[in-house]
Amino acid sequence: MQYPQIPAFAARPGVIRLIGHRGARGVLPENTMEGFAFTLAAGVELLELDVTATRDGVPVITHNHRLTRSMIRGADGCWLQGEEPKVSSLTYAELQAYDAGGLDGSSTYGRRFPDQAFLTGVRIPRLADLLALLQRPEHHNVHLLLEIKSDPDLIGDTTARRKLVEAVVSEVRKAHMQPRTVLHSFDWDLLAECQRIAPEMPASFLTQLPDNADDPGEDSSKAVNPVAGCSALDLPDRVAAAKGQFWCPYFLDITADALARARALGLVTVVWTVNEPEDIDRMIALGVDAICTDYPGRVQRRLLMHGLHWRTD
Ligand code: MG
Repeated sequence: MQYPQIPAFAARPGVIRLIGHRGARGVLPENTMEGFAFTLAAGVELLELDVTATRDGVPVITHNHRLTRSMIRGADGCWLQGEEPKVSSLTYAELQAYDAGGLDGSSTYGRRFPDQAFLTGVRIPRLADLLALLQRPEHHNVHLLLEIKSDPDLIGDTTARRKLVEAVVSEVRKAHMQPRTVLHSFDWDLLAECQRIAPEMPASFLTQLPDNADDPGEDSSKAVNPVAGCSALDLPDRVAAAKGQFWCPYFLDITADALARARALGLVTVVWTVNEPEDIDRMIALGVDAICTDYPGRVQRRLLMHGLHWRTD
């Protein structure tokens, strides 16, 4: 099958692709319309985002399964106190009471992004809100790396998994965005469901080897990522065996041999989340297809300094 989405993510001579991680998390609040608008304004045409669903089945763009006090304020304007509510326990209307516009600088997570702008009155968006923005003619070339987050409390619940995938795919189809969307996950069972329900969209297999540490202050995905016991070189074959089109390794896991193997298997290779200039340079030298980053400006500048670009036009 030919996928129209693939050329937008694949490297070409002189071009390594740039993907804005959660928009541009290093500089604006993650997974917000404000962050996505900024990323698009910077000329970045590939957006990564995280999606889960509310109690009333509305796909919303947020990373953690619980509203996290390091990044969410209540209606009173204060960081959340007490138990952090699960997104899946709230209706979309209830979710609108919360503000996702900034980080608590005293938290472990907040300290990781000291330059992120602090906004007020920012809501967790619906997937439909972003899809509507991308209908505008000026965004006709924007593609999505749409990560579906599996609920750690519902691992193995095939009905919950199917309902989540169906809700997400339904929104994408309603907006006729399938030709510009790639479905992405750490949970390979969930990706199998995506392949069954939405064969018109490529499946993007995230991997993270157990040896490298999780990012502090956010949900880990290792529990659902079936790569224990693998080496980096095993991963492309595992993805190909699962009939994936994209392999997305943690950037500290990838090796030149593994990248060569992925290319031989016809996979698009996207590394995440690459933020430090020396790491960006290393990924450019390796020759990956795409770099997913919290700092799109840093990758733009490094690519330009190497005589490369992130777009073909
Ligand atoms: Mg993600």
